[in-house]
Amino acid sequence: MMKMYDVTSSIYEGMTVYKNKPEKQPELKRVTNGYVTETRLELDVHTGTHIDAPLHMVVEGDTFETLPLTNLVGQCKVIDVTTVESGVSKTDLEGFNLQKNDFVLLKTKNSFEKEFDFDFVFLAADGAEYLAQIGIRGIGIDALGVERSQEGHPTHKTLFANDIIIIEGLRLKEVEQGDYFMVAAPLKLVGTDASPARVLLFEGLQ
Ligand SMILES: [Zn+2]
Repeated sequence: MMKMYDVTSSIYEGMTVYKNKPEKQPELKRVTNGYVTETRLELDVHTGTHIDAPLHMVVEGDTFETLPLTNLVGQCKVIDVTTVESGVSKTDLEGFNLQKNDFVLLKTKNSFEKEFDFDFVFLAADGAEYLAQIGIRGIGIDALGVERSQEGHPTHKTLFANDIIIIEGLRLKEVEQGDYFMVAAPLKLVGTDASPARVLLFEGLQ
């Protein structure tokens, strides 16, 4: 039997947002005239589970629609690095036999946090360089940022420079380490530096 995991964060007013900044909260304005209801949604494109485009960290970088959807659908590897306390480094990644074109999802202790943790686990610069050397096609993490307080944003820049897709804000608590089929479906936004996405993992689907 095929099993599906929804590894997406729920979006609602009062949800966890980056550094708990109030201006990053989504706003859902419900308007009703008594019989018809329509909600207007105001949303930072980096809210919850989302995919970054190069423009986010690269001046004049590519915008979201340039990111091929075909790279967001396919096999992925969830790796368990829940023992790592700070930055996931090359040393932490070396034992996993990662290969070229892998899409790697890092399951860290962040997936078990209910509130924003200012000391969240992130991908260290040397971890990003190691993954770039291997030539992976994408990286996902269960933090709202793939890096934390790294001056000059070396992790983002290394990943973008090597055309590695970045998914942030995954929820991987229920998912064991292993191989899955991933469908990461962002909104079809044009001209933006990121997009929220629904991300599903399927077990036993090749
Ligand atoms: Zn982002």
